[in-house]
Amino acid sequence: MPELIFSRPLKPADPHFAEQLARLENPGNSPTRSGGRQKRALAITRKLWRPGRTLKVSFLGSPDAALKSAIFRTASQWLTRSGANLALALSTDNDPRAQIRVRTGRSLPRNESCAGTDALAMPAETMNLNVEPGDAAFEHVVLHEFGHALGAEHEHQHPEASIPWNVEAVVHAAATQSGWTRQQVIDEMIARQADVGLLRTQYDPGSVMHYPVPQAFTHGDWEIGLNSHLSEKDLAFMRRAYPFQAAT
Ligand SMILES: [Zn+2]
Repeated sequence: MPELIFSRPLKPADPHFAEQLARLENPGNSPTRSGGRQKRALAITRKLWRPGRTLKVSFLGSPDAALKSAIFRTASQWLTRSGANLALALSTDNDPRAQIRVRTGRSLPRNESCAGTDALAMPAETMNLNVEPGDAAFEHVVLHEFGHALGAEHEHQHPEASIPWNVEAVVHAAATQSGWTRQQVIDEMIARQADVGLLRTQYDPGSVMHYPVPQAFTHGDWEIGLNSHLSEKDLAFMRRAYPFQAAT
C-alpha cells in the first residue's frame, strides 16, 4: 500500500479567540457575507497576516544550524519569489515572541502547521517538521507547511477540485497508517471547501499545497506526484494575500 501524507493542521484550543486575534491582526480578515443567492450565508474569518509585516521564525530546542538554514531558505522562497508584501526573518532559538515557532526532529509524529494567524493563539510550537535536507519530501513538506503558516489552504480541497478519490482505499490506508477515523479522512482530505470568503486562484494540481495522490487512491488513471516547487499559481496566491496596496 503506498504511503500517503496524512497531516492535520495544528489548531488552537479556542477557535473563537483565534478568530478575534485574526481580525485584530488584519481587519481584512473579517468575514464578508456573500449576497442573498446563498441559501445559507457562511461567515468565514480569514487568517492572513497584516500585509507589510515581518514575521519572525524561531526554532525551538536549538537544532543544528544547517537544518535551520535549509528550512529557512526553502520557506523564504514563498516571499522572495512571489514579491508579496510580507517578509520572514530568522530570530534566535526559543524566541517566544516569534510568530512562527518551529519544532524539528525525527521523533515528531507528523509534519503540521497552524493556519496563518492561528499561530497567535498557540502557547508553544506553531509548526512541527520531521524532515531533513536530502529527504525526498523535504522541499515539498517545508514549502507546504510554511504555505499554511502564511495562510494558504489545501489545494486538494479546492472548491473546483474533482479528484476521483477511491474513498474506501483512502479510509483504509489512513486507518492503518495513521489511526484516522473515516470522518477525519473526509474532513481533512476529501471534502471540498465551501466557495465562500476564500482567497483563491483556479484549482492547480501543480501546487505545493496539493497532497501527493497515488493512483492506488483514485479511480481510473489519475495521480499527482510530490510537488516540490512553488507553482505560478502558488506565487500568485501570495501576491493576492499580501498586496502592497489594500484592495479597493
Ligand atoms: Zn497541509
